[in-house]
Amino acid sequence: LQSYAPKDVHSPSLFSVDDSQAAPDVAALQQNQVLVKAEALSIDPHQRRFIDIPDSSNKAAYQFRYPLGKPIVGIGAGIVVASTSSQFSAGDWVRSEQFPWQTYAVFADQDVVKLPKTTASIVDHIGVFGMPAFTAFLGITLAGQPKAGETMLVSAAAGAVGQVVVQLGKARGLRVIGVAGSDDKIEYVKRLGADGVINYRTCGDFVHAIKQAAPEGIDIYFDNVGGEFLDAALLTLNVHARVALCGSISTYASDKSKIAGIKNLDAIIVKQVTLRSFHYQPHLGTPIETDFLEEMAQLVAANQMQFKLDQREGLASAPQALADLFSGRNFGKLIVRP
Ligand code: NDP
Repeated sequence: LQSYAPKDVHSPSLFSVDDSQAAPDVAALQQNQVLVKAEALSIDPHQRRFIDIPDSSNKAAYQFRYPLGKPIVGIGAGIVVASTSSQFSAGDWVRSEQFPWQTYAVFADQDVVKLPKTTASIVDHIGVFGMPAFTAFLGITLAGQPKAGETMLVSAAAGAVGQVVVQLGKARGLRVIGVAGSDDKIEYVKRLGADGVINYRTCGDFVHAIKQAAPEGIDIYFDNVGGEFLDAALLTLNVHARVALCGSISTYASDKSKIAGIKNLDAIIVKQVTLRSFHYQPHLGTPIETDFLEEMAQLVAANQMQFKLDQREGLASAPQALADLFSGRNFGKLIVRP
């Protein structure tokens, strides 16, 4: 990373590519370290927050920034090439929550998690069994608290998190309305089983479009985008509805002083709505993670869980990939294969 991003700008030129990394030096490994060859780097919206120009006046914002002059980090999976740790051997699959955008990386053994080779591909561990899918499960379970027959609206429904939300919603007997920003994404959301769809770029008035797609009203809104669409969705909620506040991608790259506040807060009070946010937690072997992994394994085996990947080739594609999340140019979970 060469410089922080000005407001409203997603410029791949903020980054430079360093080809000088020497071939991995196995002899330089210290005790209890592993040398890992990157196989898949997860490109995620929250990474945009950490390259924002630091703004100490906004106390509500995340204050962490990636250091300049260094590779940025994120979730990644790779194969152990060499190890001085008794816990890992060459050939093991591992994942790190702090994987640098590098072809090879050295980790302390405690900073990587060994992955079972039970999936079709190592990519599945950052995809259908990974962070976005776990986030969808957490949001539906903790915040959505669905009851069969209810109606759920989900934004960014063709994305990494959204596509799993749609399918988990159907598995729980919900009527699902998916929102996305292009015709091909809308077709995909329908194929996932959505009962209704909204293309938010062409639908015109959001409230009208939601009410047309769900005349019975919305019991759960799984919000991936925030901003204007959230505001509109609040006006379509039923009494005792729940809003799962997952993310607000429409606001991450904007000048915070120019973002209009939520206007329809009153609807929350009148309809006695519960808003709940939640954060993905790195896999820690918690009971809810066990439930997630078991259900996903069953759904995948039964061919009831599709998971679309948007895979980009080469490390140099990572900056553009990150930018693409904010213009909707990704289609499915965005991953870079270095
Ligand atoms: P996606 O794969 O859904 O990609 C992002 C999508 O967001 C784009 O493809 C685009 O879809 C849509 N989008 C981009 N800009 C806008 C905008 N201005 N208005 C409306 N839609 C927009 O990303 P993820 O599934 O990884 O993330 C989805 C959300 O979930 C994000 O807000 C993210 O921060 C959040 N998240 C939260 C987590 C948590 O722990 N709470 C963990 C992981 C993600 P389209 O073409 O349909 O517009």
